[in-house]
Amino acid sequence: MHLSRHFIISSVLAAISYPFFGWQSIFLFIGGFFIDGDHYLWYIFTKKNFNLKKAYHFHLNNDLSEKKIIDIFHTAEFWILILLASLLSNSYLPYYHTAILAFTFGIYSHIICDLIHEYNHHKLGIDARVYSFYSRALHLKRKNKFTFWNMFKD
Ligand SMILES: [Zn+2]
Repeated sequence: MHLSRHFIISSVLAAISYPFFGWQSIFLFIGGFFIDGDHYLWYIFTKKNFNLKKAYHFHLNNDLSEKKIIDIFHTAEFWILILLASLLSNSYLPYYHTAILAFTFGIYSHIICDLIHEYNHHKLGIDARVYSFYSRALHLKRKNKFTFWNMFKD
């Protein structure tokens, strides 16, 4: 999904949640917008290039849906960890609870938008990308290509 849409949606949600989170609704925006930074990480890692502009256009101009790329923040494992963090922070990190909760809302709003977008653009449903380290590892294992570094390559 286009970054501009995530920017708009995250801004609107951050504004709406302001009465609840106060200034910390900025973390909702950060979670909802900067989570796509993992695509940039993937680009740096596989292309050995730090050019942000090139990375952005690479993702826009190439259909990577068949590549089975793993994007760290777009995995089920990360969603579970961040959900646990927001639940546990209430007791263990009360000072950071609001920020973590807002961040979690941002992450999940982003994920929901991504899933809806994929559902609408891939007629076969939502299997275009790998949403879990576990399924990625299984996929590589079946192809006898399972190594740590292959987890992050296409
Ligand atoms: Zn995304």
